[in-house]
Amino acid sequence: MRPLRYARAQDVPQAVRMLGAAPYGAYLAGGTNLVDLLKLGVATPELLVDVRRLTSERIEDLPDGGILVGAAVRNSELAADPTIRTRYPVLSQALLAGASGQLRNLATTGGNLLQRTRCPYFQNITTPCNKRVPGTGCSAREGYQRDMAILGASPECVATHPSDMAVALTALDAVVHTRGPDGDRRIPLTELHRLPGEEPGRDTVLRHGELIMNVELPPLGFAANSRYRKVRDRASYAFALVSVAAAVDLVDGVVRDVRLALGGVAHRPWRATVAERLLRGAPATERSFADAADAELARARPLPGNAFKVPLARAVIIRSLLDLSVDLAEDGR
Ligand SMILES: Cc1cc2nc3c(=O)[nH]c(=O)nc-3n(C[C@H](O)[C@H](O)[C@H](O)COP(=O)(O)OP(=O)(O)OC[C@H]3O[C@@H](n4cnc5c(N)ncnc54)[C@H](O)[C@@H]3O)c2cc1C
Ligand code: SF4
Repeated sequence: MRPLRYARAQDVPQAVRMLGAAPYGAYLAGGTNLVDLLKLGVATPELLVDVRRLTSERIEDLPDGGILVGAAVRNSELAADPTIRTRYPVLSQALLAGASGQLRNLATTGGNLLQRTRCPYFQNITTPCNKRVPGTGCSAREGYQRDMAILGASPECVATHPSDMAVALTALDAVVHTRGPDGDRRIPLTELHRLPGEEPGRDTVLRHGELIMNVELPPLGFAANSRYRKVRDRASYAFALVSVAAAVDLVDGVVRDVRLALGGVAHRPWRATVAERLLRGAPATERSFADAADAELARARPLPGNAFKVPLARAVIIRSLLDLSVDLAEDGR
């Protein structure tokens, strides 16, 4: 038995102080990921600081036209919010593509972003895993590879990030607001999660004790024309093999602007900047979409067991962009 303390703070500063003083402590939100990892013996914190009632549960309009989402907003509430559904449908769709209704009722915005990889070796304490125990090796390299990364992996770790919501937020250029022992920070979603490199144990750039307070969605008019498409092995309760979050702004059949992010392919949500650059100013045709997908995926380094993800990602990118272009044409926009 390992001793584990549970604590509730009076306010955010106290929570940050409590965790700052406990090097092996962790924040607890909905608990839908962390409690599973506790039961498996993967997470072994000495202290849990409950933050469910500390951070904001509100979805607020910002003066610049953006939206501020509190870290304690439940996934189900965010998915159902009328403003999110009409102005950022990709976010609502990504949330609804994840987990189940019961889980989404508990899971929070902050916890969803920081959920840990579903690599089976990470979750099994009897197998070597550099992410769980640095220096022990990576069982996936010679093992089960279907769910693993094709982009940005390292010899130390080929795991993927599991969150659907984070892929949509990456496409939308969301910004995470944090408060930690060293003060407040604003971190673009594109910079929150790390590639594994030589330190696969660190999923994000957050420092110990840093608490996610809010997620800011900047105003993005054409995000109303956005979509999330997820390919998985089962219709529910399955993480993405490949997913695509896309938003497109078309004028007279030409792509004026675009946002594109991929899930299930890397250690972090993958912003497809190479494809975006090629698409801006290009005709909205299947040829342009295929060229952009090929350019983005030219950097893919699949393993023998997940090489299928490259053509799959290509197909899902093209289909997503075609669907959004057809939607616009039909609306006469
Ligand atoms: C069966 C099952 C199926 C699932 N399927 C999917 C799926 O298809 N797609 C998907 O995206 N997800 C899926 N999930 C994962 C689910 O979305 C996450 O478990 C959930 O979003 C985590 O949120 P939480 O509030 O429960 O976090 P917790 O479990 O409480 O915490 C997760 C991590 O975040 C940290 N944390 C929490 N809040 C904060 C904060 N404010 N600041 C700093 N750190 C914080 C905790 O310390 C912990 O490390 C599935 C989960 C299960 C159990
Ligand atoms: S891929 Fe990463 S998480 Fe999975 S076994 Fe290798 S080091 Fe561990």
